[in-house]
Amino acid sequence: MTENEYRFDTLKVRSAYNSKEHNYAVSVPIYQTASFDLGDTARAERLFRFREMGWRYSRLGNPTVNVFERRVAALDGASGGVALASGMAAITCTVLNLAEVGGRILSTPWLYGGTSDGFQKLFPRLGIHVDLAEDLNDIEDLERRIGPDTKALFVESVSNPNGVVADIEALAEAAHRHGIPLVVDNSFATPCLCRPIEYGADIVVYSATKALSGHGNLIAGVIVESGKFPWDNGRFPQFLEKHYTLRNSKGEPRSVLEFAPDMPFTFRLRTQYLPYIGPALGPFEAYLALIGIETLSERVYKQTASALKVAEHLRGREQVEQIRYSSLPDSPQRERAEKYLPKGAGAIFSFILKGDDEQTEAFIDALRLFSYHANVGDARSLIVNPSKTTHGDLSPEELEKAGVEPNLIRLSIGLEDPLDLIEDLDRAFAAAFSDA
Ligand SMILES: *Cc1c(COP(=O)(O)O)cnc(C)c1O
Repeated sequence: MTENEYRFDTLKVRSAYNSKEHNYAVSVPIYQTASFDLGDTARAERLFRFREMGWRYSRLGNPTVNVFERRVAALDGASGGVALASGMAAITCTVLNLAEVGGRILSTPWLYGGTSDGFQKLFPRLGIHVDLAEDLNDIEDLERRIGPDTKALFVESVSNPNGVVADIEALAEAAHRHGIPLVVDNSFATPCLCRPIEYGADIVVYSATKALSGHGNLIAGVIVESGKFPWDNGRFPQFLEKHYTLRNSKGEPRSVLEFAPDMPFTFRLRTQYLPYIGPALGPFEAYLALIGIETLSERVYKQTASALKVAEHLRGREQVEQIRYSSLPDSPQRERAEKYLPKGAGAIFSFILKGDDEQTEAFIDALRLFSYHANVGDARSLIVNPSKTTHGDLSPEELEKAGVEPNLIRLSIGLEDPLDLIEDLDRAFAAAFSDA
């Protein structure tokens, strides 16, 4: 049996690590070092010419970080991966690697606030433009917006904060008809609930800060790729560009596609962006993320089951106008969720409170157990009012397009007893609504 034939729960604790290569250490060691000895000059030459796989300097690669990269790749059925210092670094470097020099990215407003801000504020200054279609479900409209300079379609598998489930298969087919890759931000679902590559996605990005690591104690990002996208289709000359550093034994320069045909996207990012922008993940963060991943399924299944209990309770409260959670049997997204999220839609969902600003604030302030902060996928339950916080930089029109109403509340359900969470919410209803 080769390693990647093991099932998900085996891969999450075992893959990408052989203790014999690490002094028989059972737990992945933290290689807390900036640099690595090159040994002798012959070895240095092999390392610098990529003839021998080894470590040189932790900005470019580190053994602890490498186990994390390969473990996430194994969980996603990916051919390769690269870790970065945050989810935003993963998204930004992905966009740069695809659309450098005047390219365009196609997306929709249904995005994490930081992504949406970066798309509109940072990239135009760098000459990269992001076109936002209004509706992720209108495939024909999306296809009409793909122009000669469009370099990718970017979506979230389960969108932040409203849990819109992307029709990954249809989106991948549409993107591929026009020769562009589908990039999926899978932070909310994690590979435990959805593996986008199985439905045709080409690149998957994560904020590993969230449910992937799951304890709210680190900032990390990771990118994995399918290894199947045809980068030589004419739209991506950067993958065909010859590099002297990648020369073969005859001294002939090679392209990243020739050098790393199984993982050209992450290899290019690792060799062309990671060294110069420098957003390397530290070994300690990679170690914490690996420990978190060991319990990924156990956490995510329990949190998903608790989220459903809490959502069902909220459905019975008259102060709640609408619940956006595709795991609920009457969700308009039910059918799509059954296809892409058969084990549940995760720990995060949102609802609209039937109240004014003052009542929404009183509701949040009365909670004792839910922590009020801008994170998700933590072991502790969290609450946030996105319009004033996570999506607070969006204009009123942008908020409307993103479906972020002023009294929208987002919950991220943790590992507490769900009955305590329900009682906490009921206490807040009683404090904020005189009739509750
Ligand atoms: C948090 C988040 C990000 C950004 O990740 P950081 O690790 O905070 O940089 C990107 N996408 C989604 C969906 C997120 O929830």
